[in-house]
Amino acid sequence: MTSQRTRARLIQRLEESGIRMPELLDVIRRLPRHLFVDEALASRAYEDSALPIGHGQTISQPYTVARMTQALMEPSKPDTVLEIGTGSGFQTAVLASLVRRVYSVERIGALLERARERLRQLEYRNIRFRHDDGALGWPEYSPFDGILVTAAPRGVPRALAEQLALGGVMILPIWEGDAQVLLRVTRTPQGFEQEVLESVSFVPLVSGVS
Ligand code: SAH
Repeated sequence: MTSQRTRARLIQRLEESGIRMPELLDVIRRLPRHLFVDEALASRAYEDSALPIGHGQTISQPYTVARMTQALMEPSKPDTVLEIGTGSGFQTAVLASLVRRVYSVERIGALLERARERLRQLEYRNIRFRHDDGALGWPEYSPFDGILVTAAPRGVPRALAEQLALGGVMILPIWEGDAQVLLRVTRTPQGFEQEVLESVSFVPLVSGVS
């Protein structure tokens, strides 16, 4: 169930869906996604689907993780990335394998602690975690070359836009009525450019901590 063949099939699927960055595909091929879900769901860990991780949250679908990471890195590879919504830590691990430093903020303390322990065991040393409302960003370490948000707000959170470096890119899902779209926001000398990438479905961004 966690065999090389099952993983190879997932990678092939991602390639067929338009994921073209060889380095990114390689990172996902090597990551043990079964360690990011409950044991009872481990047999489904290499399917291209979102799975429950408790507290009403989900680990994102591998395609979505890959698509967002590619969209973040396509213009140029960021050096520092702020991630909002650590969840299982899977997206965090993908980012930390590709960039120099990742800052990850999660509002649910229990999920954050589990993700922190998982990533420690996998020997990632370039991630800083914070238990807080991610809509506030992480001003102490700003500006960030990249920001990736994995829960959907109603509009682009102002604090996050302000913590983006000049030339930096933010990838985030945002509500449009009852549906969501994935946005790429780029900070330019003139202000912010927005580009709609595709339809997506994320859990909502919730304020406060728990
Ligand atoms: N990338 C994660 C996705 C988890 S789902 C993964 O693949 O595992 C989205 C996560 O965003 C949830 O863990 C949820 O608790 C968190 N979240 C929602 N609102 C938040 C907020 N305001 N600040 C920080 N995290 C938030």
